[in-house]
Amino acid sequence: MFEDLRDLYQEVIFDHNRNPRNFRVMENPDRQVDGFNPLCGDKLTLFLKLDGELICDASFQGSGCAISTASVSLMTEIIKGKTQSEAEALFHTFHEMTTGKEEAIQLEAVGKLAVLAGVRDYPARVKCATLAWHTLDAALKNQQQAISTE
Ligand code: ZN
Repeated sequence: MFEDLRDLYQEVIFDHNRNPRNFRVMENPDRQVDGFNPLCGDKLTLFLKLDGELICDASFQGSGCAISTASVSLMTEIIKGKTQSEAEALFHTFHEMTTGKEEAIQLEAVGKLAVLAGVRDYPARVKCATLAWHTLDAALKNQQQAISTE
């Protein structure tokens, strides 16, 4: 990866950590699931408002490291306005990207999420980045029990 690209990615993670998007409790959410990553201590609650297939609103609360906060902030921004199946497809692409199963990162498929691709070089941080998405997956499947990455 080019150095300046890596710097840009770090800047996006910084920005979302300092200034998380959609960081609020949602009134009357259709889905609400807690996620926990005991390895790092990242905790979040994800809220979704659904209109049929459409995810019309997404927000979160919680506390975690910079990577987990940036990841859930970016995720809520990206899934808003997407259908549930589009969000599920993004979850799978993101998972493959961060676990390195996918050789090339499909930049056009993941968009801004590519900023988190760097975690694949730090196996201990992968769960920080994927916690939000595992929690989303549970919320979309309407599982109510808390999610733990362990
Ligand atoms: Zn973490």
